[in-house]
Amino acid sequence: MKKRNFHIPVFVPHKGCPHDCVFCNQRKITGQTDDMTVQKAREIIDNHLESIEKHNKKGEYKAEIAFFGGSFTAIEREQMTELLSLAYEYVKSGRVDGVRCSTRPDCIDDEILTLCKSYGMTAIELGLQSADDFVLQCSARGHSFEDTKRASDLIKKHSIELGLQMMTGLPGDTDEKSLSTAKEIVALGADTVRIYPTLVMEGTHLWDMHRRGEYSPQTLEQAVSLAAKIVPLFRDAGIDILRIGLQTTDNVNERTVIGPYHNAFAELVYGRVIRDKIESHVRENKIHDRPLEIEAPKEKISQITGHKKENLIYFKEKYNIDIKLI
Ligand code: SF4
Repeated sequence: MKKRNFHIPVFVPHKGCPHDCVFCNQRKITGQTDDMTVQKAREIIDNHLESIEKHNKKGEYKAEIAFFGGSFTAIEREQMTELLSLAYEYVKSGRVDGVRCSTRPDCIDDEILTLCKSYGMTAIELGLQSADDFVLQCSARGHSFEDTKRASDLIKKHSIELGLQMMTGLPGDTDEKSLSTAKEIVALGADTVRIYPTLVMEGTHLWDMHRRGEYSPQTLEQAVSLAAKIVPLFRDAGIDILRIGLQTTDNVNERTVIGPYHNAFAELVYGRVIRDKIESHVRENKIHDRPLEIEAPKEKISQITGHKKENLIYFKEKYNIDIKLI
């Protein structure tokens, strides 16, 4: 049986980040978000562990402390080692199985990986965003795809799990570029991925670009249909998809952002992946004006029917097909 995975999120904002990525609301959250201290991190970890240990049997789950929120390997070295030492206490006690963090591709080198590994780091997620250098430039990322390739190789060389995070709908981006980014992620040998459609948040450069008419976000339909083409590429390669789209827990909702936000974005995408599959079958076999029986395991039923039964409605309206689930 596959173990349940728990990531205990410890949000470490990267105050004073020298970069200026167009989509980042760091400027806005600076001053509103307190620094992460060892004491605060300990409270967060203890609270999560208490609930995880209460509801799960030892040995049936995997828990990792996850330093998210910015470029963990680029924060002040003293703060980083203090937090890593704290996390390592939990690793040594056997209460957690590892430590993970998110960072930028150009904030990885041999020295930092050796240090992280010595504190029990098991996974690093890189914000690759795009494999296209023009898109990276238009997004003011300040690193190239070459940096991602170099960092990914180093992470694998240190036997640390490699996570890659990509965005779709960035300035200068196209569906083709996003699909080739996904293919590059497969080629880099990622173990896990996250897919985020670009959202325009107040206080970002992208917000100003949008107001000046220089940037238009994807529609929800464009973002869902593109992500549904990307998901099978990762699944076929056996890459674990950790997240698709931001959630309300990421402090976003339809009132605070412009763009393809939906509180059930991942559900829409998984539903679309299945709809695309059924539609290929329907077209290949010229099925219309009759019921179609689909045998599926219980846990797949909601993906087949789609969010608010949208897939059932789609096939009824487009092909006059009534889908019957067995
Ligand atoms: S996305 Fe990360 S690297 Fe870019 S400006 Fe924000 S904190 Fe800095």
